[in-house]
Amino acid sequence: MIRESERTLSQARERQVVDAGDYYIGILRAGETLRITDLEGNQAADTLFYNAADPAERYSATDTICQQGNVYLGAGSVLISSRGNPMLDVVADTCGRHDTVGGACASESNTVRYDLARRCMHSCRDSWMLAIAEHEEYGLDKRDITHNINFFMNVPITADGGLQFADGISAPGKYVELTARMDVIVLMSNCPQLNNPCNGYNPTPVELAVWDH
Ligand SMILES: [Zn+2]
Repeated sequence: MIRESERTLSQARERQVVDAGDYYIGILRAGETLRITDLEGNQAADTLFYNAADPAERYSATDTICQQGNVYLGAGSVLISSRGNPMLDVVADTCGRHDTVGGACASESNTVRYDLARRCMHSCRDSWMLAIAEHEEYGLDKRDITHNINFFMNVPITADGGLQFADGISAPGKYVELTARMDVIVLMSNCPQLNNPCNGYNPTPVELAVWDH
């Protein structure tokens, strides 16, 4: 479902571009709204959310899918935590499809899916690991890196229950907006993947914008 936002970028409290292959880590306070914009299209923003007061509580793909009865995320989705609490509401979405089943790229998956020679290539898991190593103040550990959301990524489920990494359906300027219900840590890897069509084989930047209310 496509739902446009009534917010204007000129009223955003802050705006920040996350370059292709880079990471973002920061706090979104309860009541604040985060917009992620796919600036050039066909990008994937691999994102995890944690309760800022206790990061042991984090986004749960399984609880979210069960509660909404839908494997895809979009406008109207409520992101549910590992303790069953609502963390964020998806309040606007001009892309229409976001994956939370396909998982993130890692050197291991690059090796298995593509080639042993791809092992050394940058991956979302490595970006997250770098983020938490460079920002110990958030109290995140290796064990906290769990299942994530792939904003803008199109991973249709096939008739026989498999996953297909399909062409992205996003386009330049498409965005998704989330309003936090609790203070959350946002940990994002702007995916550096070159081997599957989720990025159009060409990773590109995304922009983050935050509104106070
Ligand atoms: Zn990735």
